[in-house]
Amino acid sequence: MVYRRYFEAAVSRLKDERRYRVFARLERDVEAFPLANWHRDDGSVEPVTIWCSNDYLGMGQHPDVIAAMVDTAGRVGAGSGGTRNISGTSHAIVELERELADLHGKEAALVFTSGWISNLAAISTIADLLPNCVILSDASNHNSMIEGVKRSRAEKKIFRHNDLAHLEELLIEAGDRPKLVVFESLYSMNGNIAPVADIVALAERYGAMTYVDEVHAVGMYGARGGGVCEREGVMARVHVIEGTLAKGFGTMGGYIAGDAVIIDAIRSYAASFIFTTALPPAVAAAACAAVRLLKRRPDLRAAHQRASHITKHALAAAGLPVLENGSHIVPVMVRDAELCKAASDMLLDRHSIYIQPINYPTVAKGSERLRVTPTPCHTQAHIANLVESLVDVWHTLGIPFVAPPSHLHIEEKSDGKCSYPEIKLAAQ
Ligand code: PLP
Repeated sequence: MVYRRYFEAAVSRLKDERRYRVFARLERDVEAFPLANWHRDDGSVEPVTIWCSNDYLGMGQHPDVIAAMVDTAGRVGAGSGGTRNISGTSHAIVELERELADLHGKEAALVFTSGWISNLAAISTIADLLPNCVILSDASNHNSMIEGVKRSRAEKKIFRHNDLAHLEELLIEAGDRPKLVVFESLYSMNGNIAPVADIVALAERYGAMTYVDEVHAVGMYGARGGGVCEREGVMARVHVIEGTLAKGFGTMGGYIAGDAVIIDAIRSYAASFIFTTALPPAVAAAACAAVRLLKRRPDLRAAHQRASHITKHALAAAGLPVLENGSHIVPVMVRDAELCKAASDMLLDRHSIYIQPINYPTVAKGSERLRVTPTPCHTQAHIANLVESLVDVWHTLGIPFVAPPSHLHIEEKSDGKCSYPEIKLAAQ
């Protein structure tokens, strides 16, 4: 085939730039999450501990969630049967939308096949339906939001990340045109949380509509898992809340919640909603079970935060360069693409720990990192093992350590091992 060389050149470009991605073949163990079986290329299988899953609360393994999926598939079958127009609107998906609307205190919700598609569909449709709209978008927004902005025909202005003064400048500049402010509540690579209340107040002052991506917060923040906006008491003042069912809720799919008329308009105009097959009812039922369960499990949210807090402190006390933030995400900075990949490989090969390297373009060049995501299922023994393994990898590869913050008191025992504050992680 005469075109083959273009594809070969494209792949070798990535390899030359050290950006070529290699995936590990894993089978999670439902009885023992965060443990999984790693299938090596030579055909052997080895148990590993997953430290980079976005199934943040282990809902993908929860017996209630699995039971809902199995039961629904057993009763109504495997697929949805079509687009939402053509026989794909199942009872399960409608129930899920009710549950999500209730979670966010909104009139309605709409489920999509992924969080990525939710952003593409909703942002582009809203901006197209507002005449002469200008979109004000945070500089660190996720790729799916950028694609939503691009797909709309609206003018866009980028405000510096979480910079309220810059946002205000752009709001003033936009004058009395319809304005849509799009931002995330929790940025997943640095783990920093947006000043959501201040952004909403600014948008209100200048008559802008607000759209917030709560993908890395739903299920995990707020009294019922409604996200950072629930925790900050501004859920009712945000016009559209977008979330995923694939992270805190452990399954698959995405959604938006808002006023019924906004949701109805997006349902009616968004091509990436209209022309694609709906989620299978079994997936919708499993997601619904996770949403329901997490509404009444603040203890799981607390255990998640505790696990993250202790992991951060233990890593920092060992001199590992942990990025400070106010969330559950634990970025450990390597700042070099090749070393980051080597650290990830060594963790897997030598210590049976799986943490995927995060390189460009997901993060800027020079800010490569290991992104650690503790869950309530990680025990104190897992945390201690992670610290000792990372210290070994850092020493072996010559990655720089940093001075531990002086306020951390992790006791070093006579055998050289460290002891960590006692934590009780919740059983599911
Ligand atoms: N929004 C943000 C901020 C994300 O980080 C992601 C995925 O990681 C998405 C949207 C897409 O969500 P999904 O994985 O459900 O497609």
